[in-house]
Amino acid sequence: MDGGALLMAGDESAGIVTGGNSRDDRPYKCKVTGCYKAYKNPGGLKYHMQHGHCEDTGDPEMNNIIHKPYQCTVPECGKRYKNLNGLKYHIEHAHISLLGPC
Ligand SMILES: [Zn+2]
Ligand SMILES: [Zn+2]
Repeated sequence: MDGGALLMAGDESAGIVTGGNSRDDRPYKCKVTGCYKAYKNPGGLKYHMQHGHCEDTGDPEMNNIIHKPYQCTVPECGKRYKNLNGLKYHIEHAHISLLGPC
């Protein structure tokens, strides 16, 4: 029993809220452990990740994911950065050898 039949109605204007039936149309889920927020579009999730977790989660790894979403693509490195420019700078300077000889 997953209540799937209710989704087929698709009449949002009716404003029927049955509860527990909304999770399926929100595929963008927060990755943070203990947070079950989900969003209909990537923008909503992005906003939530940027503004919904301003506080310390108590888990250093989770804090990293929240505050530094850009991770170095070099497997043995895995450093994280707050913004793409920081990551780019890191790759260009720390992994210059991997980029190929000039
Ligand atoms: Zn969250
Ligand atoms: Zn790196």
